[in-house]
Amino acid sequence: MEHYDYLVVGAGLFGATFAYEAKKRGKKCLVIDKRDHIAGNIYTEKISDINVHKYGAHIFHTSDKAIWDYVNQFADFNNYVNSPIAAYKDETYNLPFNMNTFSRMWNIRTPEEAKEIIEKQRREALAELCKKSGKSPEEFEAENLEEQALSLAGKDVYEKLIKGYTEKQWGRPCTELPAFIIKRLPFRFTYDNNYFNDRYQGIPEGGYTQIIEKMLSGIEVKTEEDFFHVVGRDEPLPKKGAGQKEEEFPDDELVINPHGGVLSDGTTILFDSILFTGQIDQYYDYLFGPLQYRSVRFETEELDTDNYQGNAVVNYTEKEVPFTRIIEHKHFEYGKQPTTIISREYSSEWKPGDEPYYPVNNDENNALYAKYESLAMKEDDVLFGGRLGLYKYYDMDKDISAALELVRKEFGE
Ligand SMILES: Cc1cc2nc3c(=O)[nH]c(=O)nc-3n(C[C@H](O)[C@H](O)[C@H](O)COP(=O)(O)OP(=O)(O)OC[C@H]3O[C@@H](n4cnc5c(N)ncnc54)[C@H](O)[C@@H]3O)c2cc1C
Repeated sequence: MEHYDYLVVGAGLFGATFAYEAKKRGKKCLVIDKRDHIAGNIYTEKISDINVHKYGAHIFHTSDKAIWDYVNQFADFNNYVNSPIAAYKDETYNLPFNMNTFSRMWNIRTPEEAKEIIEKQRREALAELCKKSGKSPEEFEAENLEEQALSLAGKDVYEKLIKGYTEKQWGRPCTELPAFIIKRLPFRFTYDNNYFNDRYQGIPEGGYTQIIEKMLSGIEVKTEEDFFHVVGRDEPLPKKGAGQKEEEFPDDELVINPHGGVLSDGTTILFDSILFTGQIDQYYDYLFGPLQYRSVRFETEELDTDNYQGNAVVNYTEKEVPFTRIIEHKHFEYGKQPTTIISREYSSEWKPGDEPYYPVNNDENNALYAKYESLAMKEDDVLFGGRLGLYKYYDMDKDISAALELVRKEFGE
């Protein structure tokens, strides 16, 4: 019977960072993942010599030097700078909204001209919205995302670059989406197509999976091992006795639910603590009902051309095109391969069985999460982490940072 200090559920970035740090502190971990591979959503797979981002485009960006140095231990990062393109009907624009976007949209050159047009369109939109609602511009408060975006960006930017894309992303008309989704619009009055404002940015040369491989090196990992199959709360759990040496487990307390389980190959395991990086609502058997997520479906194909769209990321901003983006993976690493691999991304409502990608952090779901969190806080030896365990959208840098924070707390540092 194997004994571990930690059973880490989820071999994604959070679980792997925790296991790596725990091992450094002399702890024995078993990492399990229900998928047939490690690395969670940052998994990249080499196909025709191209590193394919299997769960969506991942660009590492951070302003935190310590996190940048930390992740650079596990890979060499290239100097990729994310500069997405927006395709609207037969028009092509640079993102984020900057002077290249405005000059293409209105055939102008200076920031002053751009500001003037935006201001004029904002005033016109606001006047129209005020007329409709019978409020003065001072009293006006956007009631939905459409009103918010129109009053911040004006008609052209909203209709060509925001409306269709946002409606596809959320599966609902902008008039039915809350205004708070867009707090402000990042207009840039310089000719700068760098999407992120962060100090450090890049793609690991050779893909992301190697980072997790290195983190988990020397740690026992079992894939295709679903926590709920191996350690179901209602399943009979191993009792102290059968094949177990007294000196190994002097404390009876260790051998109670949920501290033991049987793996799918029949091995019985015992562990002191769990780090769970799966869905917190699933952990509690949806006791208060399921949390909502948005999901994404990827349609990936290899094309017999060396360069399909000339950029890693192209957003399709019109409603009539059913997908939101096309990713051409080779461009993340400046690939020169003879063929190319593209993924069309379709945004969808999540239902049980789908891959949960984005938590829907509205008031209703946040209140539901708070109920699960209050159960989690009462647990002695069960830790929750990662984007699913904490029901929070985390970029990779924030995910690592949260894992390191948990390590410090757990080890009293
Ligand atoms: C489409 C998309 C694009 C993104 N792009 C970026 C980007 O450009 N830049 C950036 O910084 N971040 C990006 N992110 C965020 C990034 O993916 C996350 O920060 C990171 O993957 C979080 O890692 P994690 O370990 O918390 O979760 P995950 O990667 O989801 O890992 C959790 C693991 O737990 C496993 N698991 C769950 N339940 C169970 C169970 N019951 N039993 C066993 N195993 C289980 C899952 O299979 C999974 O492997 C993006 C996210 C998405 C969805």
